[in-house]
Amino acid sequence: MQSDKLNRVRVKKLLKKEKQPALFGGKYRFSPYMACGHRCTYCDGRYEKYHVEGDFDHDITVRENAPELLEKELLKLREPGPVCISSGISDPYQPVEKQLEITRQCAEVLSRFDHPVIIHTKSSLVLRDIDYWEEVHRNSAFTLMISLTTTDDRIRSMLEPGASSVDDRLETLEEFRRRGMNAGILAMPFIPFLTDSPEQMREFLTAVKSAGVQFAIPGLLTLKQGRQKDFFLKELERKYPHLLKKMNDLYSNEDFYGSPLPNYLNSFHKIMETTWSEGHMSDLVPHGVFHGQFTLYDEITILLRDMNTLYRKKGINVSRLSIASQRFTRWLDARRTYYARRRNLNYSTLEDEIRAPVVSGELERILDNRKLAEFLYRVINGAVLNYRTLELEL
Ligand code: SF4
Repeated sequence: MQSDKLNRVRVKKLLKKEKQPALFGGKYRFSPYMACGHRCTYCDGRYEKYHVEGDFDHDITVRENAPELLEKELLKLREPGPVCISSGISDPYQPVEKQLEITRQCAEVLSRFDHPVIIHTKSSLVLRDIDYWEEVHRNSAFTLMISLTTTDDRIRSMLEPGASSVDDRLETLEEFRRRGMNAGILAMPFIPFLTDSPEQMREFLTAVKSAGVQFAIPGLLTLKQGRQKDFFLKELERKYPHLLKKMNDLYSNEDFYGSPLPNYLNSFHKIMETTWSEGHMSDLVPHGVFHGQFTLYDEITILLRDMNTLYRKKGINVSRLSIASQRFTRWLDARRTYYARRRNLNYSTLEDEIRAPVVSGELERILDNRKLAEFLYRVINGAVLNYRTLELEL
């Protein structure tokens, strides 16, 4: 097998602030590497618009000053929130990490702060640093998100030749759960005709449930025109030539985001929703997992977004909720702009400003929705929304 060519760089800035907070992506995000030795055949890191030059599987960029920059930038952060180690175009625990230990050094830095941490990976190497992640969890919260979509290791080795086996990933999740940390699945991408039949999905859910995961966020393969699509179809032709025509037809619409034909996508969503609902599995990160990890205003923002999705799925009319959510967002944006311009102000003051109208009843006017204001009053006092029953629980 071809060996990796390392391109060691020193970057000026590491942490990126997310536009929209979500436990999937945290509040801040960084990646110690660019390109990836896991060599997943479907990886959209190959897409030209991500500007990863060279051989994606072997020319790995190493941000070798990531640990020292991380420490400097964490010390200066004005606004708290979870830090996510991830990127669509690399994996923090890809094979070169075994020798280089850049992610491990970042874990050590993070274990000395009290920001929650989220990791996205396809490697059981994350277990090597479990003591640091446990320390992070004691200080705040740690959430492991492992990407997996099949229980069949033969298919897995064709799709993700450099990543950990199915069993290793399931055992890793189990160990993090056994130690009390949060763990879930990035169940993406399911591959049409290969891993997305109802039987396969049911089997998959049974396996990840027995590993104790708290959620599984699903998604279907997207193939963007150019390098990503060409590479995937070439690999498919080598391993599963009988699927080539069907796959070509399914992705013949040249959709900008690489989505398959709408009929297939809709039927995937229907099957997935039924399977997830029968298996009592959440397809969103549940409130019980992200509660307390964000500032109060970010937590409410995520919660309102999720409620719109959950209620709509249950066939409940969300027009009033959606108007109230927009009013909340407008009010919050105005307060944020005010705070962003005054660098001497601390964001905990903004947090207090959110509590004040809730306690005084002013929130009802801001939202123009008494029921929602009462609901948020209970959330601020520690209640958590059960995403299955849609009931608040203390
Ligand atoms: S692990 Fe992620 S970044 Fe790495 S090759 Fe696979 S899909 Fe791409």
